[in-house]
Amino acid sequence: MSEIVTYKCPNCGGPLTFDPEKQKYTCDYCLSEFVQKELNAIAPDTQKAEKVRVEAEADEAAQKTEAQPMLYNCPSCGAEIVTDDTTAATFCYYCHNPVILSGRVSGEFHPDYVIPFSVDKEKALEIFQSWMKKKRYVPKAFYSQDQIEKVSGVYFPYLMYSCQADGRLDASADKLRVWVTGDYKYTETSSYSIHREGNMDIRYVPRNALKKANRELAEGVFSYDMEKLKPFQMSYLSGFLAERRDMEESEFSEEVKKEVREFAESTLRNSIGSYDRVRVNNRSVDFRQEKWDYALLPVWTLTYNDQAKNKIYYFSINGENGRVCGKLPVDMGRLMVLFAQIFFPILIVMLIVGYLI
Ligand SMILES: [Zn+2]
Ligand SMILES: [Zn+2]
Repeated sequence: MSEIVTYKCPNCGGPLTFDPEKQKYTCDYCLSEFVQKELNAIAPDTQKAEKVRVEAEADEAAQKTEAQPMLYNCPSCGAEIVTDDTTAATFCYYCHNPVILSGRVSGEFHPDYVIPFSVDKEKALEIFQSWMKKKRYVPKAFYSQDQIEKVSGVYFPYLMYSCQADGRLDASADKLRVWVTGDYKYTETSSYSIHREGNMDIRYVPRNALKKANRELAEGVFSYDMEKLKPFQMSYLSGFLAERRDMEESEFSEEVKKEVREFAESTLRNSIGSYDRVRVNNRSVDFRQEKWDYALLPVWTLTYNDQAKNKIYYFSINGENGRVCGKLPVDMGRLMVLFAQIFFPILIVMLIVGYLI
């Protein structure tokens, strides 16, 4: 049974949200602050949410593969809140009350870990603006005020693979020494038999586990400091958007193991010193103690819909360390001006030089 959860300030009843800078829960109305322990003692305001499917007649198969819009009622103002199947935390569109859908982060979808935001919105905007200054050829609309207000903090779902990888590699290698005496050229070949083996502790190889997420956006902001992983607490989501995973470990298993295998093999290969010839005869990597963890990781995102070209562009910031990943729209109008002003004169100068030579 799904419930809508809102954490309310015990002093004034206003909504409590997680403040990344203070790493505390704050009330915007009376400015009270609470640490995690205090919050755990406060019973969240919950409301049995009778979810209503918008399309009641959608068939079973479609429900499993496509995100269905669902309606809930805001516990604060009673207005309808529209969510996707994967929405785990959002805001009421009317009263901005932060709501968490507890059913989306419990049972099989209960995350093992979360890295709470440590970059707040103000800092995210600073990073965005200073990054924009260095990018000259983007349409002004991308960094207009109302666009910037759409910067939002999202907890994206990731599945993370860990294991012990045991690697072995056998190779034969030669060192050559060549010298000339009189009319004769001598080559001395020293042959070596090489054996390398090692164990690697592989931890938290992450994969974005939300189908509708843009992979470049959600994986471009890697890497996270996994030391910051905390056992999951629902309250961290208060004041942010959050999505639950809709992908399974089995969808990533093969590609992640291939990545680990290649990494282990190339590490062993690189540990062989310098020889003139190396032949790898045998190699193998075994996996032990394989484990998948499910975590929600923080990302600041901004998307820009370029309607003229029917394209959507992305900008994202790692919510833990401020690392930037951007896929910028290029405004062809401004780029053409650049061509006319710089490339075109240079081309003419080159042609003239070429002619003179
Ligand atoms: Zn308050
Ligand atoms: Zn509301």
